[in-house]
Amino acid sequence: MSRPPVRSGGRHVDLHTHTVFSDGVLTPEQLVQRAVDRGVSVLAITDHDSLEALEPARLAATSVLELVPGIEISTFDTVEMHILGYFIDPADPTLRTTLARFARDRVDRVRAIIERLRQVGAPVELDEVMSVAGPGVMGRPHVAEALRRAGHVESVDDAFRRYLGSHGVAFVPRPMFDAAMAINLVREAGGVSVLAHAGGAFDEMRLEALVDAGLAGIEIWHPVHGASAVRRLRAIAARLRLIETGGSDFHMPGRGSDLGDMPVPPSVLSRLKDAAGVSG
Ligand code: AMP
Ligand code: ZN
Ligand code: FE
Ligand code: FE
Repeated sequence: MSRPPVRSGGRHVDLHTHTVFSDGVLTPEQLVQRAVDRGVSVLAITDHDSLEALEPARLAATSVLELVPGIEISTFDTVEMHILGYFIDPADPTLRTTLARFARDRVDRVRAIIERLRQVGAPVELDEVMSVAGPGVMGRPHVAEALRRAGHVESVDDAFRRYLGSHGVAFVPRPMFDAAMAINLVREAGGVSVLAHAGGAFDEMRLEALVDAGLAGIEIWHPVHGASAVRRLRAIAARLRLIETGGSDFHMPGRGSDLGDMPVPPSVLSRLKDAAGVSG
């Protein structure tokens, strides 16, 4: 299959994307190339709990687009929230140590999930989940795909509904790590924090506490947010003086939205840089 010609001079901004180093399917190099092909000029890679894509992406991006180093940290206390960190230093020792611990916790969790699945008659092998994950930090999406390959479910969505989601029969929580802890971690690594896909049910008191903890932005433009969610979130952002960000949350071609699809205003980049104290 031939690739569409490179469209240079694109103006699209995409601040939320995944690679093979979490649960996406493209390598960092392929992601950068697809972004260029689709007219994206500012791209953040935000793998779940992983920094591995950032260096190869930086080498691939050269001057063809501006690459923003990012991460999407999964946090849990009574609810699950995802904190996007931008302009973090990938070499920060505390960040690296914490992510290494998360990776070990994730493997333990997958083992526990597999045990539950065995008990409910939907067995999958750890080796199979590991082969689905490849270089990516292991997570429920990889277990979901293994369940699909084993014929226990029709689709990944079905796997989350029946087994892996918070109401599923094989749900296992991860160790507590709350959003304020993620915000601190990002700040100490030199970055700036944004609440990801903030459109779900959350109370504003909780959000205000996160702003007090140092949250600088809120993701407005995301494929799961309809027009009314966007309006509501923009009003909250204005009231709390939060930076409005957005991105496609791209994982793979043909599923969900594609690179550059969200109408993210280019001005967001300088606001994030100012908040992170990054020059340029
Ligand atoms: P984990 O990090 O292992 O807890 O897995 C959570 C990830 O699974 C989320 O960040 C999403 O990328 C993905 N996910 C959650 N729900 C679904 C779903 N219904 N279908 C596909 N992927 C999902
Ligand atoms: Zn994901
Ligand atoms: Fe997320
Ligand atoms: Fe994401």
